[in-house]
Amino acid sequence: MESCSLCNGEMKPKKVDIIKKINNKIIVIDDVPAHVCNQCGEKYYSLEVVENIEKLIDKIKRDKIKTNMIYGEELKYEPISV
Ligand SMILES: [Zn+2]
Repeated sequence: MESCSLCNGEMKPKKVDIIKKINNKIIVIDDVPAHVCNQCGEKYYSLEVVENIEKLIDKIKRDKIKTNMIYGEELKYEPISV
């Protein structure tokens, strides 16, 4: 695994939560696979993960995923099978 590009720290694979504000709603995406620097805490995502998150956010923006609550909406991160 590569070292952190900010501080050269060691990168550890970890599941993280991503919090985004979309259409005035706070969306929490749980258990997203990432690599986290154990020195500065910087998070890195693979290209595949970034694409999945963008697709998910796009669906929310176009209201394809119905969100009823204004705050604390939680969505499961689901990897897209190729
Ligand atoms: Zn770092």
